[in-house]
Amino acid sequence: MSRAIRDVEDLVAALREDAGDVGTVDGHLRLPPREARFVPYPDWVLPALKDALQARGITSLYSHQREAAELLHAGRDVVVATSTASGKSVGYHLPVLDRLLREPSRARALYLFPTKALSRDQMAELERVLAGATAGGERLTVAVYDGDTPPDTRRALREGGHLVITNPHMLHAGILPNHTKWQGLFSGLEYVVVDEVHTLSGIYGSHVANVLRRLVRICAHYGSRPVFCAASATISNAAEHAQRLFERPVKLVDDDGSARGPKHFLFVNPQLVSEASGMRVPALDAARRLATNLVAAQPDGGIQSIFFVRSRSNVEVLLKYLRDECKAQKADPERVTGYRGGYLPNLRRDIERGLREGRITSVVSTNALELGIDIGSLDVCVLVGYPGTVSSTFQRAGRVGRRQRSSAVILLARSFAMDQFLVREPGFLFDAPREAVAIDPDNAVILANHVKCAAFELPFTRGDGFGKAEGIDDVLEFLSRDLGLLVREGDRYHFAAATFPAEGVSLNAAELDNVVIHDRDTGKVLGEIDRASSITEVYEGAIYGHQGEQYLVEEFRYDDRRCYVRRADVDYYTEADTETEVRVLHLDASEDFGSYCAHRCEVHVSTLAKAYKKLRFYTRENVGDGEIDLPPEEFETEACVLALDPELAVRAGLSEGANGGGLRGLAELIQGLVPLFVRVDPGDVRVSSELRHPHFERPTILIHDAIPNGVGLSERIFAVHREVLQAALGVVTRCRCAGGCPSCIGPARDQGRRGKALARRILEELLGGRSA
Ligand SMILES: [Zn+2]
Repeated sequence: MSRAIRDVEDLVAALREDAGDVGTVDGHLRLPPREARFVPYPDWVLPALKDALQARGITSLYSHQREAAELLHAGRDVVVATSTASGKSVGYHLPVLDRLLREPSRARALYLFPTKALSRDQMAELERVLAGATAGGERLTVAVYDGDTPPDTRRALREGGHLVITNPHMLHAGILPNHTKWQGLFSGLEYVVVDEVHTLSGIYGSHVANVLRRLVRICAHYGSRPVFCAASATISNAAEHAQRLFERPVKLVDDDGSARGPKHFLFVNPQLVSEASGMRVPALDAARRLATNLVAAQPDGGIQSIFFVRSRSNVEVLLKYLRDECKAQKADPERVTGYRGGYLPNLRRDIERGLREGRITSVVSTNALELGIDIGSLDVCVLVGYPGTVSSTFQRAGRVGRRQRSSAVILLARSFAMDQFLVREPGFLFDAPREAVAIDPDNAVILANHVKCAAFELPFTRGDGFGKAEGIDDVLEFLSRDLGLLVREGDRYHFAAATFPAEGVSLNAAELDNVVIHDRDTGKVLGEIDRASSITEVYEGAIYGHQGEQYLVEEFRYDDRRCYVRRADVDYYTEADTETEVRVLHLDASEDFGSYCAHRCEVHVSTLAKAYKKLRFYTRENVGDGEIDLPPEEFETEACVLALDPELAVRAGLSEGANGGGLRGLAELIQGLVPLFVRVDPGDVRVSSELRHPHFERPTILIHDAIPNGVGLSERIFAVHREVLQAALGVVTRCRCAGGCPSCIGPARDQGRRGKALARRILEELLGGRSA
């Protein structure tokens, strides 16, 4: 880049002309500016509230804000799915605050935010609004209730809080089990707002859906029936997802009336290091090179930028590079800062203010700044690697763009299939949203855990429902007869023990028993790991990583669920070799595509860890191995299976394939691309392949939920698998490596010399053509 850069348009033009050592611009899209659609406030809004909002600069409403406000005011349940900086919250603040101000002695509301930081940010905004709007001279009591709330505030909130802001964990373990202390809240509860519902996916989302069932049950007990409002990033199934969460018909508001300046999306592939191996310059290095240009171009700091990186350590590395560059260019290094979890709250507030005021021109952040914390609008967003989901990509992109000015989002691709796919097909992000969120509130383990918590809160009578879950009487019988957790008296079930069951139920796991990791040197508990992962992570001899430190596993008492580790100064990590057997129990649905059959089925998964390797950091040099002596981990779950026509296998040359490399590589590629279509957390789904599966007697690719009973992920994948295959073909066809690389089917050394050619032929056969 050589030309002078005064603004974002200059930067975009310079990068397109010659991105130099940053890489090559493979894709460029420009979103045209959008005019705001303003509408007046509804007539029912209290003048005092309207005045207070107008004093905050909200002189009129965007059309979607009014649409949401009107629906909620009329008692309809709503999900608002508009762009990041579109002011979704005003849409629900209006009806909620209006009610609270009109009936302060009775009306109550509850807001759920995913993080503490976001809760406090919303709290601050509400306080500013409410400073100008009182109920007959009295201020409303609004506060955050979480682990950091001081005892006085807690008491005040319990006794007379009008609006309680909290998170799902706190509602689950702190508020619902103590509902008798919150009678005022539950008997007057009129509105429940659940923000960022797209983050409520998989196991966690399935738990939260059950926490909401418990909330509705407690409200019914106190005689209230609140209206629900969800706010979401753009996903393909926002209304359906909110409907599953709330178990009610939900009205979708997604016609965005907010303004936007022109926004550029640049997709940059870092330079190839070697064509044959497919390796590229790491995205973090490309980010440093880009930052050098940005900082150099900005003696006066006219362009404000945000760099999103994947880890806390990457924040510090890139921050150091940027500050060094400032010093080299005689600019003030304090203009550049980091932002991540672990920074103290005061420092974070100071950084947020610095960004709003323009004092800070560049920030390097983890996902900590992805959600709605107010930092004003910046100009350039650099994504160092694809963030993993479409919705978080747009959340991050939403950090830039002021009303009348151009902004740019620059994605620096990594050598992963997902990143490489997007760089070559940037349109994917902008066509109709495809990312779906899957939850299954009726997962047997998750449901049983919450029925247990609910029984503690209020006894059950046979025939009582629990949301829309079926077979609750059987669950109650199981909890009382088999587990002895409930006592049955006639038709009533009471909780038997004195302890809070909610404390033992983690919203992030679907296990009844985790393995606890103890540090022998300090005697402290280091962490927990779910049982299914324990056999591949904490076997004796394993190196267990924790916050950048290495620990050697000295003893694993499998039956006691305890593991003992000690700090170890080693230059290697360990990797277990596992054998997974997926046995089909029952076919739920099948669809014939000619060259293969797709099945949705219930499966039994058995994973045996037999041995492990010690691999040196960075080089992966093998420096030793050992045996693992643990029983197999077994569970039943849901799967999506692609069973290939045996003739296809012959045509594609699969039978000659050396050790199934092509098929295995294809399975790995599918695993890498699935998150583009279905929102999955790492480890939520597993993909495997078999050259001749015993049940189908043909080559198969199996995709299964990684937790017992599943949470509906493989069902979603079954529905979109053709699109995943199409994307896979695109990646394999365009990847320039010779025989496989991390950007497509995995390195040639793992998949065999012919692996890539085989994978491509199989895909062409599966999709019924030889399209390029
Ligand atoms: Zn490749």
